[in-house]
Amino acid sequence: IWLPFGVVLGLAAAAALWVFIRNRSSMVGQLRDAIRRKRLLVHYQPIVDLTTRRCIGAEALVRWPQAKGAMIRPDIFVPLAEDNGLIQSMTDLVLDLVCAEMATLLQLRSDLYVSINLAAIDLSTERFVAVLKRKLPQVGVEPARIAIEATERGFMDADSARDVIGKLRASGHRVLIDDFGTGYSGLSYLQTFEVDVLKIDKSFIDTVGTEAATASVAPHIVEIGHSLNLKMIAEGVETEAQAQWLQAHGVQSGQGWLFGKPVPAADFLAFLAKDRQAPEP
Ligand code: C2E
Ligand code: MG
Ligand code: MG
Ligand code: MG
Repeated sequence: IWLPFGVVLGLAAAAALWVFIRNRSSMVGQLRDAIRRKRLLVHYQPIVDLTTRRCIGAEALVRWPQAKGAMIRPDIFVPLAEDNGLIQSMTDLVLDLVCAEMATLLQLRSDLYVSINLAAIDLSTERFVAVLKRKLPQVGVEPARIAIEATERGFMDADSARDVIGKLRASGHRVLIDDFGTGYSGLSYLQTFEVDVLKIDKSFIDTVGTEAATASVAPHIVEIGHSLNLKMIAEGVETEAQAQWLQAHGVQSGQGWLFGKPVPAADFLAFLAKDRQAPEP
């Protein structure tokens, strides 16, 4: 009786594995299809000057809409795109979507920038630099209006990342280091790469003003930014107390739910229209 039981168990496990792999690969298929048919969306989250509280830019965050208005989170499908050779076409699509909405955004705020997240692969070759050089003149968007977010994960091949970042900056793009402080690459790249802005990871901001262990790290992260003469954006600012701590410590800008959640372009336009009426400093 035990042998058949073992066989049944084995079969059940094999069936479960088969279903898992089939679902996963059908999700990849659907993602490939969504990218090909340009069925992804971009939401915009404001980046504000902590002193004037005016919006100075926005981060473009990709969304995968499903039936009935649901969205799959980028935390799930961006890694899937990376693992299945889809990420470069996804990055191109995000750029296209941003470019299509850029003219309207710039009508309300001509000095605004929108930052686009690059994947590690995008930093390993000059392909995307060429895409930007070709695309932006076609749509009449100045390079200064498109910023690039690069994570330290993209610096595994430090030589090509340095090259690509150098070329992006030479073309007139701001380069922002995303999730700063969470990378495994060490900080030595900061001595050899030129970048414009450090985005301090949300995990350090969460605990600002609390007793948690990372709360004592935040001032040191900010200090690194100051000693390198880099501008800083704090990610995930949710409370007024965090905003005030950051401003008191010389962090220029912030992004987070306190100022605005990521929203579709139309809602971001409405946000900007109101923001424009804010008193000038
Ligand atoms: P990220 O680039 O660090 O983006 C910031 C994330 O923090 C966003 O999550 C944003 O919605 C969230 N966030 C911002 N402020 C707050 C806050 O105050 N509280 C909380 N709880 N969360 C906040 P999202 O949109 O889910 O994106 C997650 C990650 O997916 C991004 O992290 C980025 O690594 C990746 N991603 C998003 N869009 C793209 C894209 O177009 N290309 C690539 N390669 N990656 C992308
Ligand atoms: Mg980002
Ligand atoms: Mg970030
Ligand atoms: Mg982050």
